[in-house]
Amino acid sequence: MTILAIDIGGTKVRAGLVDENSTSLVRTIATAPGPGETSIMPSILRLVGEYSGYSSIAVASAGVISEGRVVSATDLIPHWAGTDIAGELAVTGVPVSVLGDVHAHGLGEAVYGAARGCHSSLTVGVGTGIGGAYVSHDGPMVGAHGVAGHIGHVSHADARDLTCSCGRTGHIEPLSSGTGMVEAYERLTGELVSGRELDQRAENGDQSAISVLSGGGFALGDVLGSLANTLDPGIIVISGSVSRSAAFWWPSLIAGYRSSAMDPVSATPLVRGELGDDAPLLGAASYAKVFHA
Ligand SMILES: [Zn+2]
Repeated sequence: MTILAIDIGGTKVRAGLVDENSTSLVRTIATAPGPGETSIMPSILRLVGEYSGYSSIAVASAGVISEGRVVSATDLIPHWAGTDIAGELAVTGVPVSVLGDVHAHGLGEAVYGAARGCHSSLTVGVGTGIGGAYVSHDGPMVGAHGVAGHIGHVSHADARDLTCSCGRTGHIEPLSSGTGMVEAYERLTGELVSGRELDQRAENGDQSAISVLSGGGFALGDVLGSLANTLDPGIIVISGSVSRSAAFWWPSLIAGYRSSAMDPVSATPLVRGELGDDAPLLGAASYAKVFHA
């Protein structure tokens, strides 16, 4: 069974055909409305029109998803909230399933990636924001409103003075996301640098960079320890651009985790994701097989 999988993110839309555990004919377009258009949906429909030979469509989308629709979304994608994704794609004539992109990412790693074969997993994406998904044998836990897994919006004492992307204060995202750590470094030094440069400066002994990466990593680890105490996943998978930040962020993350996790879960493995950009495509396709079964 060939499935057309589409990952709709804040900066790009990736589509590809999925057979079993591999992707092919992957095409990427920018997440931007076409000339004279206000929504990105016409661009997505044109992208879909470039494919043939699939029996269903599996979508992984940014935003909070429920019953094929975007219940809410940030302003990253213009006019995305309220979009009936399944309804719009019904013109293809094939069955359509829609899952949140973070839930799809977690399911992809659980079925085909770093968490394959595990009892359950907690996947955490750390990049411009922080998202997560808890996946068990029943699939990703999406919750009553599609919101489950918004790990970036867990409170942490060290973030009490920071405003979050959701408008609240005190959430972990503005402290420990890649964007948050770059902004913290700018507050300390007056210099705006890239995440990669921040890493490099830490490795060169810049104490401000070391402090920001260590503090952000430790606080997120602390939160993950609390979540492990609550959910007891078999493995914790860390993905996203910040997960490749090795020298100071990762050891601090582990130390924060150990400080917070109860004894029975203190040895739960924390590993890096394996599938990268393919995780949401493979996860959405895996969900579609169950959804349409
Ligand atoms: Zn928040």
